[in-house]
Amino acid sequence: DNQQLQARKELAFARGMGNLYPVYAARAENAEIWDVEGNRYVDFAAGIAVTNTGHLHPKVKAAVAAQLEAFSHTCAMVTPYESMVTLAESLNRLAPGDTPKRSILVTTGAEAVENAVKIARAHTGRPGVIAFQGGFHGRTNLTMGLTGKVTPYKAGFGPFPGEIFHLPFPIAFHGCGEDACLAALNQLFHCDIEPQRVAAIIIEPVQGEGGFYPAPAGFMQALRRVCDEHGIVLICDEIQTGFARTGKLFASEHSGIEPDLITLAKGLAGGFPIAAVTGKASIMDAAAPGGLGGTYAGSPLGCVAANAVLEVIEEEQLCHKALAIGEYLEGRLNHLKALYPQWVGEIRITGAMVAMELVEEGDAGRPNPALTRAIIAKAREHGLILLACGVRANVIRILAPLTIPHAQLGEGADKLEAIFAAV
Ligand code: PLP
Repeated sequence: DNQQLQARKELAFARGMGNLYPVYAARAENAEIWDVEGNRYVDFAAGIAVTNTGHLHPKVKAAVAAQLEAFSHTCAMVTPYESMVTLAESLNRLAPGDTPKRSILVTTGAEAVENAVKIARAHTGRPGVIAFQGGFHGRTNLTMGLTGKVTPYKAGFGPFPGEIFHLPFPIAFHGCGEDACLAALNQLFHCDIEPQRVAAIIIEPVQGEGGFYPAPAGFMQALRRVCDEHGIVLICDEIQTGFARTGKLFASEHSGIEPDLITLAKGLAGGFPIAAVTGKASIMDAAAPGGLGGTYAGSPLGCVAANAVLEVIEEEQLCHKALAIGEYLEGRLNHLKALYPQWVGEIRITGAMVAMELVEEGDAGRPNPALTRAIIAKAREHGLILLACGVRANVIRILAPLTIPHAQLGEGADKLEAIFAAV
């Protein structure tokens, strides 16, 4: 049962690799998961924004099954295959902006970010990278360095690569509006690193792990101008925000800017490990042949799954669905806030990236991580898989599959209400 498996896991795994729930998955379909004891859960996590097209979408399943009849691995760097070419062509066509694009395929989000930085450095011949406080970019050495949140992602794991600088993200919590953040960038250019030594600025258009904060469109546009002025590569990390999650195919579209590079993973292939960097051809081509890649880069299973996912996003109008999910949950969370005004703080919705802050009773400004933990733990008893996030660990986030049937979305919201009543 779940408990025995958790006991075995704790003996078998190093404790650095934790799990949120002692729930061992046996089967999953679209927005439902069943554990080894036969308990059913409504999935409000989507494998952390991965199964935007649901668990085992029939089209994705069929594409992968067909690929397994053909071959599972030949290595894209040895004998390539059509599915990887088709995928790169699609990403180049779909990425924001009209400038001709090229792509590379890798395996994980962190790898995509590493490669985007490598490409930016090769293109500019400069070392510096500017990232944002509260940002999250992965768990490898360079991406830990770029990540702004110390615990648990960085504490004890240093030293990190040099030439990385952090700016405040333009949100009220940092006491920093848009103008103040731009002033901080100017200050950085005067005091820490000249703009002529900066290869890239990397930003999540909506901070994910940091707490679901959208970057204001005006700020994204200002960053675009700064990068143009100084020849800096603007990288949008769309790993959590991509593939219809925010109501646009890519979240950077909300600000109307064309990033130089975007990093993609998670929702790209509905659960098959594959990631990508897509960007302006003039920048992407900077690295010499052999400088980019990896044994599993652009695996055939990932490529066919991703090609199917891209079709499903279009056929089932998942951008539209994401907006409808966000609108519905906004109503339900506002109702929850009316019921529990002492606990529910700010509600932040960008398409189907849905978050609510939990605060201390009697002190609406103070985060309440203990209550957040209690609600997450209770969710399991009520058959709901729910995530937390935020630099202050007090944000409940909902990342339902975009294919979730409306009745199950309502069921999940009912469960959330029941959890608040029970906690
Ligand atoms: N960048 C962002 C914005 C993410 O949300 C994540 C994962 O949560 C990553 C990078 C790292 O991706 P991966 O866990 O696939 O390495």
